[in-house]
Amino acid sequence: MGEMLKFEEALRIVTDSAFITGTGEIDFTSACGRVLSEDIVSDIDIPPFNRSAVDGYACRKDELTSDLEVAGVIAAGMEPLPPPGRNQCFKIMTGGVVPEECDMVFMVEDAEVLSSGKVRFRGFSLKNNISLKGEDIKAGSTVLPAGRNIEPQDIAVMASAGCTRVKVREKPLLAVISSGDELVEPSEKPAPGQIRDSNSYQLVAQALRAGASPRFYGIARDNENETFELLSRAISENDIVIITGGVSVGDYDFVPSVMEKAGVTILFSSIAVQPGKPTTFGLHPEALIFGLPGNPVSSFIQFEVLVRPLIDVMTGSNRRPAEMTMRMGGDYSRRSADRMGWHPVIIEPEGYILPLEYHGSAHISSLTGADGIMRIPEGVYRLEKGAIVHVRRI
Ligand code: AMP
Ligand code: MG
Repeated sequence: MGEMLKFEEALRIVTDSAFITGTGEIDFTSACGRVLSEDIVSDIDIPPFNRSAVDGYACRKDELTSDLEVAGVIAAGMEPLPPPGRNQCFKIMTGGVVPEECDMVFMVEDAEVLSSGKVRFRGFSLKNNISLKGEDIKAGSTVLPAGRNIEPQDIAVMASAGCTRVKVREKPLLAVISSGDELVEPSEKPAPGQIRDSNSYQLVAQALRAGASPRFYGIARDNENETFELLSRAISENDIVIITGGVSVGDYDFVPSVMEKAGVTILFSSIAVQPGKPTTFGLHPEALIFGLPGNPVSSFIQFEVLVRPLIDVMTGSNRRPAEMTMRMGGDYSRRSADRMGWHPVIIEPEGYILPLEYHGSAHISSLTGADGIMRIPEGVYRLEKGAIVHVRRI
């Protein structure tokens, strides 16, 4: 327990502890941001008929050399018409049903209307301009797989496929507790020695973004009883509990002992990462419990790299972390390299990354100016301009 775990081992312990949340059926219009727990299958071909992709004239390609008589007009939404007669065509609007036997729609821009009322093809391109029935989606095929994090563009697919009720994973219930005698609510003006509680609200927002259902349980003062009460209640009412502050080795850092008193089996209490070394994780029959360091940059980063993947496993999400490989646009160095490091960076439009000024794990404004955080491997002291690094968007 006292040893520092490698980050990858800590992540594996956390994700191996996950259980899968239940499922529920919801209206597709409120499904954005949820994780699908079933495959979505289309009940029809899409497009459902041969559809004109342009405004133009529907005709037989092999009659293009003749002047064509216009047999009628097809608007979008009209029922299918029978094929035109010999050397005839239909004027057709985008979205209209292309009649049988017509294998081309030439564009209005390529048509010359003669004084006789007939039309003549004046174009060069022999493109069909027809979206064929079922070319996007075949009836009975899976259009969205289980595990998909539903995005706005998926809502259009669900609507087209007629899936108005969809099965999704329940969001894990997540409790946030802060601990510390120095903390006051953000609406208050801190007295000397006090600071505003910024972690709790940041974690609640991160949990929302990650797809959990968070609730703030309040600030526990630095005494065992109060911390025990809040922690026990949070454990009995949630799937994941995060308590920040009080996890290091200070005289008032009660969290590890209170966790054990509350029936939590601690699986690790130290990770070889910077920031976030005292990150603690434990199991209770009713919930998974994280003790995150009190400093807001530490808790932010540890949530992103450790808690978010847990939420993904619990919800069956197949989303991968938004991690990219990029090149350094400047030099970076650090004094000690015994731990994996995370450092806030700017991602330049040209694709290079620039390390930001960063004064340590209490420097919350360093994150608001950052596009991402870069990972510095254990043992690496220096990264020169041009070096390849892993960056995670935040
Ligand atoms: P701790 O982990 O309790 O030793 O706290 C480490 C540092 O983070 C101290 O400077 C705390 O004042 C600060 N801190 C602890 N909890 C919070 C919080 N909820 N919001 C902002 N800062 C905090
Ligand atoms: Mg504290």
